[in-house]
Amino acid sequence: MLEPRAVDEYITAYCLKCKSNLSHTVVERDGDTAYLVACNACGNKHPYKLRLTPPKPRVARAKKGTTPSLPVGARWEARIAAAQGTELVYTMGAVYRIGDIVLHEQFGKGVVLKLATNKCHVLFQDKERAMASANVS
Ligand SMILES: [Zn+2]
Repeated sequence: MLEPRAVDEYITAYCLKCKSNLSHTVVERDGDTAYLVACNACGNKHPYKLRLTPPKPRVARAKKGTTPSLPVGARWEARIAAAQGTELVYTMGAVYRIGDIVLHEQFGKGVVLKLATNKCHVLFQDKERAMASANVS
């Protein structure tokens, strides 16, 4: 944002007559954000407004498929609540589907998020783990 100017101060503004950015003199103040300015080249008087809103900073896009704002415990709770799959006791030889709830003797309850060859990604309450399974893809 530009600094507020006082009367008789020079200010660079776009002159519609000269069609370029030129030095102007502040003729009259209109509050803190608007001025009547006179072009120093042609003498044309016109209102000049300060830009009040700075350009918007670019917001970094969230990565696809991740929810970094949510702690793993909250994600886990939401996933468990939404899971429609069967509750299964975890064994390496089983085939799982996305949404299945697995019960692991060490890690507790988890939800199957992704499937891969010979493994599946299970979200447990403390973190996501790649678990061995009989999945083929
Ligand atoms: Zn001018």
